[in-house]
Amino acid sequence: MNYFIEVILPLSLPKTFTYSISESEYSYIKKGFRVAVPVKNKIYTALVIDLHQTAPTLYEAKEINQILDEKPIVNEFQINHWFWIASYYMCNIGDVYRGALPSALLLESETIISQRKETLINEGELSDDEFLIYEALQSQSSLKVQNIIDILNKKTVLPVIQKLIHKNIISLEEEIQEEYKPKLIRYIRLHENYLSEEKLIALLDNFNKNANKQKELVLQYFQLQALDKKPISVKQLAETAKASSAIVKALVDKQIFEEYYIQEDRINFDKNKQENELSLSKAQQKAYDEIEKSFSEKEVCLLHGVTSSGKTEIYIKLIENYIGVGKQVLYLLPEIALTTQLVARLTKHFGNKVAVFHSKYSNNERVEVWNQVLSSSEKAQVVIGARSALFLPFSNLGLIIVDEEHEPTFKQQDPAPRYHARDSAIVLANAHQAKVLLGSATPSIETYYNAQSGKFGLVTLKERFGQVQMPEIQLVDLKDGYFRKKIKGHFSTTLIENITEAFANNEQVILFQNRRGFSPVLECMTCGHVPQCPQCDVSLTYHKYKNQLRCHYCGHSIAKPTNCHVCASVDLETKGFGTEQIELELAELFPTKNIKRMDQDTTRGKYSFEKIIDGFKNREIDVLVGTQMLAKGLDFDNVTLVGIMNADNMLYHPDFRAFERSFQMMTQVAGRSGRAEKRGKVIIQTFNPLHNIIQQVTNNDYEGMYKEQLYERRIYFYPPFYRLIKLTLKHRDFEKLKEGSMWLYQVLKQHLSIPVLGPEEPAIGRIRNEYIRTIMIKIPNETSVQGTKKTIQKVLNSFDVVSQYRTIKVTVNVDFY
Ligand code: ADP
Ligand code: ZN
Ligand code: ZN
Repeated sequence: MNYFIEVILPLSLPKTFTYSISESEYSYIKKGFRVAVPVKNKIYTALVIDLHQTAPTLYEAKEINQILDEKPIVNEFQINHWFWIASYYMCNIGDVYRGALPSALLLESETIISQRKETLINEGELSDDEFLIYEALQSQSSLKVQNIIDILNKKTVLPVIQKLIHKNIISLEEEIQEEYKPKLIRYIRLHENYLSEEKLIALLDNFNKNANKQKELVLQYFQLQALDKKPISVKQLAETAKASSAIVKALVDKQIFEEYYIQEDRINFDKNKQENELSLSKAQQKAYDEIEKSFSEKEVCLLHGVTSSGKTEIYIKLIENYIGVGKQVLYLLPEIALTTQLVARLTKHFGNKVAVFHSKYSNNERVEVWNQVLSSSEKAQVVIGARSALFLPFSNLGLIIVDEEHEPTFKQQDPAPRYHARDSAIVLANAHQAKVLLGSATPSIETYYNAQSGKFGLVTLKERFGQVQMPEIQLVDLKDGYFRKKIKGHFSTTLIENITEAFANNEQVILFQNRRGFSPVLECMTCGHVPQCPQCDVSLTYHKYKNQLRCHYCGHSIAKPTNCHVCASVDLETKGFGTEQIELELAELFPTKNIKRMDQDTTRGKYSFEKIIDGFKNREIDVLVGTQMLAKGLDFDNVTLVGIMNADNMLYHPDFRAFERSFQMMTQVAGRSGRAEKRGKVIIQTFNPLHNIIQQVTNNDYEGMYKEQLYERRIYFYPPFYRLIKLTLKHRDFEKLKEGSMWLYQVLKQHLSIPVLGPEEPAIGRIRNEYIRTIMIKIPNETSVQGTKKTIQKVLNSFDVVSQYRTIKVTVNVDFY
């Protein structure tokens, strides 16, 4: 008899593979075990998804190398869900597997270099060579030095590897081999020799004079022990006694103390913080009852509650119910910026039953949460996480909350799987027969459409908690402002006056500047030339602190020139503005105030969000200047003024969602104002005060925005009436790319009887010397999505066999966002 296992490899491959095992292995291995298997000359961590007795027909099954688990670490819910993701989002199952498992669980032999997933990477800061390595690590979990030599096409690669290690972006072999190590805390107790009172007295008497410190430490130990019976850690003892741990060690050496260890979780929340009953307001209670009712009929419910209506408290009440009956709850958040506040709020109610899972956590921390969820541990009954938390080994989900469901960051863009966490959550919940609550003050058009059409339940909460009024919105016409010279830098007099007033009342201010709008560039006032990146089709961005021009796409930088490269004029001026400039102008206007900036540049470190958010909450910071990060569910009670520096650069994006997003962003930022007692104020500076979206924001008219946008979506063939699949093609050779994308477009057009658009050169047509073309396929709701995807896949397969196009990279983005 022959025995086989079917495995998924952590490689970008579409198929599963068969390996041969012995009979005894056959009876031991279960689905969800990891096994080490050989592929070419390397060993990979594969995942067993089936056991059978059918030999593969196309190749001879190799033997496995080693069994890595004693019990499954992945369950069937996950495996099914991952295959669904691969199929729906048109990517390889290996991509999903690799994206789903914490990398510490994907050890590989012979690995030389792999990415440290916990380090947040700003691609713009990498040099070209560094980027190439980084990019290769997106499609391969590890590289050997030889691979890197090939990729970079040069012999001396160690310096660049060194730099990447220094930047914490990659790690080397020894570190990869490092297994998951539980964190151990060193505790101390009296050696059993001294447990009797006599011995103890003798001990204290016998300390000689120059061991005073040791004696004191022993006494301190007794004092601590008398306070409460909890174990005493070396650290705690040393700290209370103000002694060094060397003294503790001396006592251990003398066998007066002995050390022992208790395994502690790395992430431990204060257990004593459990709060008492939470009471909902009348409106909240009504919404809560309606959600329950909706859940008795439908799987998904949308809670459309205005900003500060107290949605979180409703979630908490719901969570209580589900964990009360032993179910697991998953709470998805769009961004880690939000977790700090939320974790604090949830642990207040659920104490240590809350686990957090996100990209800034270290490998070990993530494995810890994985294991807790796997064992349905009490500590992970409620899991808060960003989109990847969807991949955890839940076995008993009762409820998934998708907070701020409209947020675009729920959609993963790169690398594959390019999944949408909200939509995938609905599918996952279905498998568990769990319910899904989508929450937002500004639901996405798609979700609201589903709610209107009865597919989802809909519960509306129109009032703010505590009868606080919605903020007053005042528009400032910039055109008029400039005309009357009532603008200083980027600040209108109205905004300055209001800021001054807020400060006079000891209140805080948030200023919002959308980063996605134009960033500051250097423009020649004589000939109009703006310095461009030599490798990308974008203007270089001016960075004042470093006095540099830098490309945000590839990191290329030059010192700020003193005269124009084209006409040599010295009359150069910076145009456009980002958060940095707002911060500087503000500091000039209000030199005594404490101003902090919250954007990608200031929130790199693991705790950088916490620091800024805590500082603001504790009122150490007077003004927070930030990008869209600020638009996400933050709750501060002393902010009475929000300023939107420029509403227009959001509106004019070449994107069918630009209007919807502008509405959401402005409404959300506005929602940070006046959340406690006093009514808040919002000032929107714009050149287009009469624009429909600006009017809708001002009047808090979600319905109006929805109706208008829905109409546009229908006539221009966009979601929710059409599903979009975007193909992106990239190559260094412009002509080849042009030809290849034309070929692909034409073949698609021949085989599909639905709109195929393109091939289009995107707004930024070249990044890092790679040219880019896109093709958009629009699938009407009446057309079979699956059938269409099959056809697309077939065409892509045939594209791949055309030899001259094989080097063109194609990525598929289903439900393009
Ligand atoms: P939303 O998420 O809808 O914007 P939040 O849940 O952040 O609103 O609630 C806004 C504020 O009101 C928070 O500071 C919250 O603590 C407070 N709040 C909401 N509901 C209650 C309640 N039932 N009891 C006490 N405070 C509440
Ligand atoms: Zn010039
Ligand atoms: Zn560039």
